[in-house]
Amino acid sequence: MPGCVGESRSRPSRHRWWRWGRALLDALLPLRCSACGAWLDAVVETGHAAQDPLARVLCTDCRAALRLIDGPICPRCGLPFASGEGSDHLCGACLAHAPAYAMARSAGIYGPPLKTLIHRLKYDGQLRVARPLGDMLWGAFLRGWGDRSVDLIIPVPLHRRRLRERGFNQVRAMMRSWPCLDRKPRSTSIDGGVLVRARHTASQAGLDRKERQRNMRAAFRVDRPAAVIGRSVLIVDDVMTTGATVAACAEALKSSGARRVDVLTLARAL
Ligand SMILES: [Zn+2]
Ligand SMILES: [Zn+2]
Repeated sequence: MPGCVGESRSRPSRHRWWRWGRALLDALLPLRCSACGAWLDAVVETGHAAQDPLARVLCTDCRAALRLIDGPICPRCGLPFASGEGSDHLCGACLAHAPAYAMARSAGIYGPPLKTLIHRLKYDGQLRVARPLGDMLWGAFLRGWGDRSVDLIIPVPLHRRRLRERGFNQVRAMMRSWPCLDRKPRSTSIDGGVLVRARHTASQAGLDRKERQRNMRAAFRVDRPAAVIGRSVLIVDDVMTTGATVAACAEALKSSGARRVDVLTLARAL
C-alpha cells in the first residue's frame, strides 16, 4: 500500500549519514528485539496487513508485555481507567475543564516495551521501528475514526531547531506507511504544513502539568487558516502525557476556525 506522508527532513547533516549507516546494518545483520535485545524469530512478511506488525521489531515476550488500551476510558480525553472495569465515563480533569479537542484516543500505554520503541525511534534514530509503530497507529485511527469523517490530518510539527537536531519528524516517519486517504469515498488530506511550531519549547520531560501548560503557551500557530476554517481536524502525535502539547495545537486550530479537533496518539502516559 503506498504511503502518502513524506518524512519531513532537515538539511543534510552528519546525523543523516549515521542513520543511513544504521539502516544498512539493520538490513544486513540478523535482527534483535528493539526493546530487550533478544534475537528475533524469523518473521514471515505478509505486507501491511500482517497480523502483528510489531513482530518485526519485538520478541514474543516483549509483545506479550505490550499494554493496549481496550478497557473503559474517558470518552473525551481517552484516559484509561486503572480498574479496567465498568463503562466509559468522563474523568475528573475533563469534568473540571473540558479540553479544546473533542476526542482523544491512543493505541497503547506509554510503558515498556512501547516506550522503549518510541525512544529507539526518536533518540536513537532507529528508523526500522517507524513502520511497525505506524501500522499500530493506523489501527488506532481505524478504530477511532473508521466511520467518522475527518477533513484534515496534521502530524504535530517539530520546531525547525529540533527538526535539525533530530533530522526527521518521528510522527511523519511513522505515518509514511499510511495509505492515501484523499481518494473517494474519503476526502481526507494529510498536511503537515498547516500548523507550525512558532516557539522552540524546552523539553517537557520532568515538568508537571502546570509547567507543561505554561511551556506550551502560544507554541503553535496556524500558517494557512483557510485550510482549517469549518473543517474537522485530527492531530497526530507520538505520546500524550498531560495533553498540554495537543491542547495547545487544538486551541490554535480552533481559534483559526476549525469546526472540530480530535487527537490520535500512539501512546498514552498514565
Ligand atoms: Zn524483547
Ligand atoms: Zn478525560
